[in-house]
Amino acid sequence: MDLSDTPHPPRPPSGLTLGWEEWIALPGLGLPALKAKVDTGAKTSALHAFDIEPFGPINRPKLRFAVHPVPGRTDLTIACSALIRDRRDVTSSNGEAELRYVIETRLKVGDVEVPIEVTLTDRTNMAYRMLIGRQAIQPAWRISPAASFCQERLSYDIYHTAEVKLAAPHRSLRIAVLSREDNHSTRRLVTEGEERSHTVEVIDTTRCYMAINALAPEVHYDGKRLPRYDAVIPRIGASITSYGTAVLRQFETLGTHCVNGSAGITASRDKLHAHQMLAAKGIGMPQTAFAASPKDTDNLIGLVGSGPLVVKLLESTQGKGVVLAETKKAAQSVIDAFRGLRANFLVQNFVKEAAGEDIRCLVVDGRVMAAMKRTASGDDFRSNLHRGGTAAPVRITKEERDTAVRAARVFNLGLAGVDLLRSHDGPKVLEVNSSPGLEGIELATGKNIAALLYDAIERKVRPEPVRKRRGTPG
Ligand code: ADP
Repeated sequence: MDLSDTPHPPRPPSGLTLGWEEWIALPGLGLPALKAKVDTGAKTSALHAFDIEPFGPINRPKLRFAVHPVPGRTDLTIACSALIRDRRDVTSSNGEAELRYVIETRLKVGDVEVPIEVTLTDRTNMAYRMLIGRQAIQPAWRISPAASFCQERLSYDIYHTAEVKLAAPHRSLRIAVLSREDNHSTRRLVTEGEERSHTVEVIDTTRCYMAINALAPEVHYDGKRLPRYDAVIPRIGASITSYGTAVLRQFETLGTHCVNGSAGITASRDKLHAHQMLAAKGIGMPQTAFAASPKDTDNLIGLVGSGPLVVKLLESTQGKGVVLAETKKAAQSVIDAFRGLRANFLVQNFVKEAAGEDIRCLVVDGRVMAAMKRTASGDDFRSNLHRGGTAAPVRITKEERDTAVRAARVFNLGLAGVDLLRSHDGPKVLEVNSSPGLEGIELATGKNIAALLYDAIERKVRPEPVRKRRGTPG
């Protein structure tokens, strides 16, 4: 008889002998190697975790917690999420009763995997991160209390290799959208995130308050400390850039992954600063100049050429403070008028051949995911959708793609809308927007930008391998 034809009988779970200490894995939590103590004196298994916080919908509450899998290595933290099974009083070996959360996950010992209940407790000084209690021990298993490491020995080395990223399971994330507005983009981010089993909380930036403290940076909201988020998506309006980025910096100090950083948002919002940074990286842009003194008006105009000029208020958004001056005389009057109002502005040469069209490239995590062409309405030269412009999908050239990616990279933005003009000598960047609207581009191109953003966030919040220290155990 050909043995290969016989179906495999279910592997008898016999032969599994556990010593008093064993290497185990909790694959469902992204913990590929832990040293556990087998403690038949305890009923339920326990995992030492910290920053244990419930989140998510009331009818399906989840926990977010963090584990230092390697004793003594506080620089290595794995963030975990799991559904809450229960909350119970547990008396630990030192006789203390504690109300603990209970989760269900899978225990892997050798090549056997079994579902187990685990309570979570914050006792970081314990030598073993995991205790295996009676309930986890299967009837066919044998305990050999005098022996140790009877099963396959694992190694903490896995946390130092890229494999730790691969071992990370898809987990429910707790994500904050920093936004003051209940607009389409915010709602899209919430719906799309929830469809992927994440919990997305919209936090009104202006209602966050903080104690600035070197040891314990925190953000408070509505009388409570805000929890740990796996990621923050800032959608900070132009009118509150300074306060909004201060809140964001607090999250950065906490080590939370922020899709766009405070430094990049601040620099990209300030038109002068942004143009200087783009120029420093050799990124194409319309000839641009600015001056503070009225004495320099003529020279300023001279710097950007003799043709028609565009004068822009520095705080312009949605094309509101952008004026086309067809002649030098017109430019002088506009500049004088702006100066009279003590307004800050810059002067650019008019890229005529763009003919009332610009290209919005949506860059997510270093790639252009969608591009649309916006065309001005009537004889306006400004193609902003808020000014009645229309949008259509567009194929962009490799040069345009590269320019958009490089422009987003200058400000280190994980999500950016890069606006380009098509000129005779290549793409010219007008603006890099750190809170690009999703509605227009998703409608025009049919691309699910919110989903692509979550793909990027899910990749980013996976654990990173940490550098091995000399003398690390395991
Ligand atoms: P805002 O930040 O207020 O939207 P922009 O700099 O993006 O200001 O300009 C608004 C619109 O005006 C652009 O989308 C573009 O269509 C047009 N525009 C701006 N600068 C120029 C320029 N130098 N040459 C030609 N058109 C321009």
